[in-house]
Amino acid sequence: MPVADFKTFCAILERARAGRFALAAVNVTSMTTANAVLRGLAESKADGIIQISTGGGAFASGSAIKDMALGAASIAEHVHRVADRYPIYVALHTDHCLKDKLEKFVIPLLELTEKRRAAGQPNLFTGHMFDGSNLSLGENLETAGKLLARFAKNDLLLEIETGAVGGEEDGVVGAHNANLYTTPQDTLEVARRLNPIGGRYLLAATFGNVHGVYKPGHVKLQPKVLKECQDAVVKQYGESARFHLVFHGGSGSTQEEIHESLDYGVVKMNVDTDMQYAFTRPIAAHMFKNYDGVLKVDAEVGNKKAYDPRTYLAMAEGSMADRVKQAVSDLRGNGQTMFAS
Ligand SMILES: [Zn+2]
Repeated sequence: MPVADFKTFCAILERARAGRFALAAVNVTSMTTANAVLRGLAESKADGIIQISTGGGAFASGSAIKDMALGAASIAEHVHRVADRYPIYVALHTDHCLKDKLEKFVIPLLELTEKRRAAGQPNLFTGHMFDGSNLSLGENLETAGKLLARFAKNDLLLEIETGAVGGEEDGVVGAHNANLYTTPQDTLEVARRLNPIGGRYLLAATFGNVHGVYKPGHVKLQPKVLKECQDAVVKQYGESARFHLVFHGGSGSTQEEIHESLDYGVVKMNVDTDMQYAFTRPIAAHMFKNYDGVLKVDAEVGNKKAYDPRTYLAMAEGSMADRVKQAVSDLRGNGQTMFAS
């Protein structure tokens, strides 16, 4: 299917919230990793999200260029070209963008979408995330509001974040403390400031999440925080204000924690770290097992078949596709595609 348009994607999110499942949002940095996501989603008969971070975009543009918007656009164009070979819907999203990077990342991509729309073409991206969680709530929502107004005119979804997520995301290290839990007061303020603007937004409200790597037991997730936020906003502004929530920093979470968060309205879960490991694992095995094929040892010539990057990247693609299938299953998403063949 082509990349999901705004109307289709909103319908997918509504259906996910009502059905208590969520879409896997998988970070990619290359054509190979994007293909892995498409394959995993298609084999799960599930719709999902391919997303690109600022660092991923810079990487994808080439190490001599390091232009985050250019690399993200390049992956997005690849996905637009190949997506209709897969019998599912995929959305294209950009991941965490701090305020000081908006001008280098989200705004140029937004301008590309505006140009495409003026030429009668579909949006380049389905949505973008602005991460103002390192700012005061007032400053966070001030910037989010301006973006939302412009996004609404272009059928783009905005994702925002309240409360700090611990751990590391593209080199930004958060602390592990009480700020890790968003309060109902914070989310009421989000609704008060953003809902009158129109358009659509997703909210990553933190509930103890930690980005990156940690061992089990380090994190005290409290999904109940999400229920408290939903109850407060529905009480104050009615059912139509119920949030579409995003789960960040979920690598290593238990199945129970994930399922509880789905019950409270999580419709998108970011998966990055676990995908990185799934991709690298078979490459490591290949190198160790075939060290005298991938290396020219003792004046030998190695083995061309072993060091051809396609050999191990195909294994990596397959392993990552399997991890995508596991994510879909964890999120109760198997067979949930809205694409009717
Ligand atoms: Zn986050």
